[in-house]
Amino acid sequence: MTSSPRPLLNRRLAEFGTTVFAEMSALALRTGSINLGQGFPDTDGPEEVREAAVRALRDGRGNQYPPGPGVPELRTAVAAHQRRRYNLSFDPDTEVLVTAGATEAIAAALLALVEPGDEVVALEPYYDSYAACVALAGGRRVPVTLRPRDGRFRLDLDELRDAVTDRTRLLLINTPHNPTGTVLTREELAAIAELAVERDLLVITDEVYEHLVYDDAEHVPLATFPGMRERTVTISSAGKTFSFTGWKVGWITAAPELVTAVRSAKQYLTYVSAGPFQYAVAEALALPDSYFDGFRSDLQRKRDLLGDGLRAAGFEVYQPQGTYFITTDITPLGEKDAYAFCRALPERCGVVAIPNSVFYDAPDVGRNQVRFAFCKKDGTLSEAVDRLRRLAS
Ligand code: PMP
Ligand code: GLN
Repeated sequence: MTSSPRPLLNRRLAEFGTTVFAEMSALALRTGSINLGQGFPDTDGPEEVREAAVRALRDGRGNQYPPGPGVPELRTAVAAHQRRRYNLSFDPDTEVLVTAGATEAIAAALLALVEPGDEVVALEPYYDSYAACVALAGGRRVPVTLRPRDGRFRLDLDELRDAVTDRTRLLLINTPHNPTGTVLTREELAAIAELAVERDLLVITDEVYEHLVYDDAEHVPLATFPGMRERTVTISSAGKTFSFTGWKVGWITAAPELVTAVRSAKQYLTYVSAGPFQYAVAEALALPDSYFDGFRSDLQRKRDLLGDGLRAAGFEVYQPQGTYFITTDITPLGEKDAYAFCRALPERCGVVAIPNSVFYDAPDVGRNQVRFAFCKKDGTLSEAVDRLRRLAS
């Protein structure tokens, strides 16, 4: 350890403390609370997928370094999935790259594509790793704020247009969107695509919740819009789709030059990861539509269970069309400060949630917003709802 007065943590990371997810999960453990904070399911994914991982381990597939771009079986399965679901065609050898979760894909894409001083336009509130990775790359984040209107968080297309300058390198999009649960509409996506083409911008789109959409909402990949396939890095991950968040198997699909660029950064981050799990995820991606439909309707039911409970407890609920999450407004409970509210919640009723305020550059915008995860067992959600009802009394 040096005794110099210079801070240990470099300037790029100084503004980022411990992630709110780690902080709130630790709080849940310490207080024995129900953890509706960090987004992870409390039930593992399909048994046959788990068994596929065991088989790969036993058969010695992936126990040594897999190939840098990912095992061919998984790259082929990702390409087949994109074709089957979205009619998008990608070459598994040159247009697919396997990463250590979506988290590494985000980091590698930003480190590869952003020069110091470049501006990155991102939808706010944003997933916390976006801001940190833009900073690591030396870029400057430029938020465009999603705002609730008529029950849904919406993108203001004029605000998006105004955010783009001559220094803008790329748009960083996320749909279905964490934390708001909004699913960008065809119209919003078409406008993003038109802007990207008109201003010749690259686009990174985080679509990890692509299969978690409810009611009549539809996930439309940005890469399907005219002029987008060649400029878009699409990111997804097995964690959410198959309920194995600990496996950390993610991937990107993009044009060959973009994949090559992202791989240049990725090879010096993890190089490779999750060998045996890659084989298992390849099998998971080939599951029949009935798996994806069943998973989605189960989660939709859980959303409604928690949403009804939150309304009964006095929260204003912004009905999510996608993801694991419900964003609420705590103002009707007479509360003003999401962070203080979340810190006190375990003591008040034994539940942990996430303050959305940490996902905004302008903290006052999200000061009244609290996020709850519904990817939990029905019994856990019912118990949480009973406990939250104490807030109303
Ligand atoms: N992007 C978003 C929007 C997320 O919510 C998450 C975390 N769940 C990730 C990326 C990271 O995904 P992974 O666990 O695959 O790294
Ligand atoms: N994506 C998860 C969430 O939003 C958390 C992942 C993490 O802890 N980094 O809750």
